[in-house]
Amino acid sequence: MDDIKIILSETEIPTHWYNVAADLPTPLPPPLGPDGQPIGPDALAAIFPEALIEQEMSQERWIPIPEPVRDIYRLWRPSPMFRARRLEQALATPARIFYKYEGGSPAGSHKPNTAVAQAYYNQQEGIRRLTTETGAGQWGSSIALAGAMFGLTVRVYMVRVSYQQKPFRRSMMETWGAEVFSSPSEMTQSGRDALARDPETPGSLGLAISEAVEDAASRADSHYALGSVLNHVVLHQTVIGLEARAQFKKIGLFPDVVIACCGGGSNFGGTAFPFLMDKAAGRAIRLVAVEPDSCPTLTKGRYCYDSGDTACLTPLMPMYTLGHNFMPPGIHAGGLRYHGDSPLVSHLYHQGLLEAVAVPQLATFKAGVLFAQTEGILPAPESNHAIRVAIDEALQCKESGEPKTILFTLSGHGHFDMAAYDRYFAGKLEDYSYPEAEIAASLAELRAV
Ligand SMILES: *Cc1c(COP(=O)(O)O)cnc(C)c1O
Repeated sequence: MDDIKIILSETEIPTHWYNVAADLPTPLPPPLGPDGQPIGPDALAAIFPEALIEQEMSQERWIPIPEPVRDIYRLWRPSPMFRARRLEQALATPARIFYKYEGGSPAGSHKPNTAVAQAYYNQQEGIRRLTTETGAGQWGSSIALAGAMFGLTVRVYMVRVSYQQKPFRRSMMETWGAEVFSSPSEMTQSGRDALARDPETPGSLGLAISEAVEDAASRADSHYALGSVLNHVVLHQTVIGLEARAQFKKIGLFPDVVIACCGGGSNFGGTAFPFLMDKAAGRAIRLVAVEPDSCPTLTKGRYCYDSGDTACLTPLMPMYTLGHNFMPPGIHAGGLRYHGDSPLVSHLYHQGLLEAVAVPQLATFKAGVLFAQTEGILPAPESNHAIRVAIDEALQCKESGEPKTILFTLSGHGHFDMAAYDRYFAGKLEDYSYPEAEIAASLAELRAV
């Protein structure tokens, strides 16, 4: 009988991250400053350590993972890849479904893969304090964990709606020693301005980023850490795809389609990019990003230069975006509520090397519940998006009779998201229609790449 879990040993944890920037068909357009000119490394030096700025701009294909980072990776890596046999049986599909499970990290998602690396490089360069934002709470938890591992103080600006909906994510961050504020807060000018405009605002990721960047830029002992979007973050997440390739090699299979949910693009890019090497070598493989249809960045956004945050403190990045003023509906997949997307994912999607699909909220929960009832693991609402599309692919195989091999990344568990499942079971969860007029208004001011 075939194994259910495909396990690698700790010695098989990747020794290098894969930098897709080395293999792009055309170079990534540079980030721009407020004057519209490409920015150099200095523009980022106030908020990031040199090592990460170097990675952000690197053209080297393989970047070594420092030993202290690999050593912490050993706490949960290599992550298992599972064959979802019971789900396959429930669907009566001839497809083989595999999932790479990132929920076994201490914070419960893929995010510690980069949080640990970022904390390490900051500590190496003498930084003592990190600021960040968090939407759903997973990134804040991950950087709180990483701060504890490397003795850094961590301050987290948590989007107000999540701060209210997810008090236990806050407790988790505080357990690891972080301070957590509801955003917008009174601690920063961007926060005070936002509160003056609308005291009842639910907050947004873009706004919380403004607060965290402003805080870090105002103190010499502090840097800022971002949980997705940037090239160095996606780079660190390539351990997911690199391990998955090794796991498939071990069982003599290769995926026909690779699926991951896409918020800022880090778990999708981290999963998919290593397979681009196989695609370039001529193997047929589809790489599919899944987003909520209420925040359809790749499928309905525009490829433009846009700011990463609401207050326009970050450089302008070339990315698919819904506009930095777009306030996504309060869906429960908080990690997928971001107006922009990774420049690397955006660029490769623009070149036609990646696919994207948008799915409605209720269908994702339906998929997540079937997954929990067959495979056991209770998925994060974000991961339910990937499960939905994996199931749809498997159902198409049932129609066509093709025994395709499907891989998806189960980016995290949903143990802190039970209020969302409760609402789903109570029939209170909604499908938000695609907010077309709002997106059009928000896109009106942007500049083409
Ligand atoms: C943050 C998060 C996501 C989305 O972030 P990406 O940068 O797109 O990977 C997806 N799943 C989980 C569980 C998350 O915590």
